[in-house]
Amino acid sequence: MRLQDKTALITGAGSGIGRAAAERFAKEGATVIVNDLDESKGRETVERIASSGGNALFLQADVTDADSVQTMIREALKACSKIDVLFNNAGISGVGAIHEIEPEDWDRVVRVNLRGVFLPSKYVLPHMMQRMSGNVINMSSCIAEIGLARRASYSATKGAVLALTKSMQVDYAPYGIRVNALLPGTILTPFVEQYLRNSYEDPEAALAAIKSRQLSGDLGKPEDVANAALFLASDESKFMMGSPLYVDGGVVFGKNA
Ligand code: NAP
Repeated sequence: MRLQDKTALITGAGSGIGRAAAERFAKEGATVIVNDLDESKGRETVERIASSGGNALFLQADVTDADSVQTMIREALKACSKIDVLFNNAGISGVGAIHEIEPEDWDRVVRVNLRGVFLPSKYVLPHMMQRMSGNVINMSSCIAEIGLARRASYSATKGAVLALTKSMQVDYAPYGIRVNALLPGTILTPFVEQYLRNSYEDPEAALAAIKSRQLSGDLGKPEDVANAALFLASDESKFMMGSPLYVDGGVVFGKNA
C-alpha cells in the first residue's frame, strides 16, 4: 500500500495512461479523483476501480477552462478534504511540420498540453502550499528530448512541460512540494492508435517502424507508465525533484543500428 491515505487527482484518467495510473494508484491505497473531459469514459474508470475494491470519484472538467478547473478543485477538496498528488496527464496529439499546421490546430495542442498543465497546477498548488506538502507529476514525453518527424506542435508543448516542471520545482521546493516529469516513449493507447490512423497511409507499416526504433522492440503499455507514475507519487522517490523520468524502451539514450 504505497499510497495509503493519499488522495490523487489525475487529469485525463478516462483512457490510456491516465486510466492505468488511476487503477494502479487505487490498488496502492489512494483515493483517486478521476478527471476527464469525457464523462462516460471517466465514470468507466471509476467503476473499474470500485469493482476491484478501490476508492475513486469522477469529476468532469475541461483542463483548458479556468472556471471548469476551479470548480473541479473546489469539489475535490469538498469531497476528499485534501489533494496529495496532482498528476497532470491529459493531453492530445498534434501532427504536422510547421508549414502544414493550421494556426487553430497549433493553438488547440498548446491549450490542452500546456494550459492544461498550468490551470490544474495553479488551483491545486495554493492548497499544497498551505499544507507545506504535495506532489505534482507533469506528463511530458521523450519527444521533449529528440526530434521526430512532423510533430512540431506536440514536441513544442512537451518540451515546454519539461522546462515548466524544473521551474515549478524551484518555486515550490520551499513549500515541501515535489514536481517531476514523466517522459514516455511510444505507449500503445487510444491516443497512439488514432495518431497512427490519422497520420499514415499504412498504419501497420508505421507501427512496425516505431517498434524498430525502440531498443525494447515493442511499444510500451499504459501500465509501464503507470508504474513509473506510482514511483513518483510515492515517498520512494522523495529525493527526486524537478527530474525527468524516462519510460521509453530505450528510444532516447539508445540506438538500434
Ligand atoms: P489518451 O488515451 O487519449 O488519454 C488522454 C485522455 O485525456 C483522454 O481520455 C482525453 O479525453 C483526455 N483529455 C483530452 N483533452 C482533455 C481536456 N481538455 N480536459 C480533460 N481531459 C482531456 O492518451 P494517452 O496516450 O493515455 O496519453 C496521456 C498523456 O500521455 C498525454 O499527455 C500524452 O501526450 C502523453 N504521452 C503519451 C504517449 C503515448 O505514446 N501514448 C507518449 C508520451 C506522452 P478525450 O478522449 O475525450 O479527448
